[in-house]
Amino acid sequence: MRAMVLHRPGPVENRPLWPEEVPVPEPKENEVLVRIDTCGVCRTDLHVVEGDLPPVRPSVIPGHEIVGTVARLGPGVRTLSVGDRVGVPWLHSTCGRCEYCLTGRENLCSEKTFTGYSENGGYAPFVVGKESYVLKLPAEGDAASWAPMLCAGLIGYRALKTAMPRFGGRIGFFGFGGSAHLTLQLAAKLGFDTVAYSRTAAHLALARSLGAAESVLTTEPRTPMEPTLDGAIVFAPAGSVVIDALREVRKGATVAIAGIHVSPIPSIDYDRLLFGERRIASVEANTRADAREFLDLAVRLHLQSTVEVRPLEDANEALADLKSGRVDGALVLDCRASAT
Ligand SMILES: [Zn+2]
Ligand SMILES: [Zn+2]
Repeated sequence: MRAMVLHRPGPVENRPLWPEEVPVPEPKENEVLVRIDTCGVCRTDLHVVEGDLPPVRPSVIPGHEIVGTVARLGPGVRTLSVGDRVGVPWLHSTCGRCEYCLTGRENLCSEKTFTGYSENGGYAPFVVGKESYVLKLPAEGDAASWAPMLCAGLIGYRALKTAMPRFGGRIGFFGFGGSAHLTLQLAAKLGFDTVAYSRTAAHLALARSLGAAESVLTTEPRTPMEPTLDGAIVFAPAGSVVIDALREVRKGATVAIAGIHVSPIPSIDYDRLLFGERRIASVEANTRADAREFLDLAVRLHLQSTVEVRPLEDANEALADLKSGRVDGALVLDCRASAT
């Protein structure tokens, strides 16, 4: 099969991913081989490709928002059948034995492995997933529209649960990409007032069309106002945006950070920005329970993903566009054309 392979991380403008002929992987015990339709392009892929997340194996095929169908079963698989539509997400496996795994916090397991980072991922026509970590998806809807749900949606959901004000109110979304566009819809449908903050006017137009009650262009000078948010989620990978969010939240609010990699947060004025039981919380991956809850909500509340589909061979360009913010909604690679 022809896959996009990363041997050495580097600036995405230098095209670190190479199209290469590699063998179709073999599913081992309790694994399935998935024929990939589409794979979403996530900011974490950019961190893998550029080396913000240091390499953990000599080469890797990135991609962890994988939608496809089960093509072959490894020995011992009982809960999946050939032809099932499935998603292969970032969480590839956990140890199942540590205190985190045993207390419903498998997202914090220190031995967890990741699709498209510690294991080969979905910038390819086939991938192998573990039976109990592969997510069953409804057969309805096109594959591309499910892809962003599998990481952007999931992480956003966990971040929303972290930031969600217990008594209702307004939630701010800082940085409006693939994750925010799903999470804002969800928050709006759950009855929260939503406010989108972005440097890009087009992103704010999309946010309004998805239910944002208000949108704020952060490049325009603003007169200082009393904070109005009861919770906030930072999707941008810049630590300075955490400060921007803290400036907008009221007492008792949590600012959840959805990024796996964020640049250093500038010093925080405790008296003005944190006192009053304001909290900053990071979000690390998700549990399988989060995934089931979110996919169920996505179906019941008819979440719509706004996707732009690109050919698999254009993965470098897609990542460069994601880096520079030249994308509305989510980018998805079509992995079918190059299957052999
Ligand atoms: Zn564990
Ligand atoms: Zn991701």
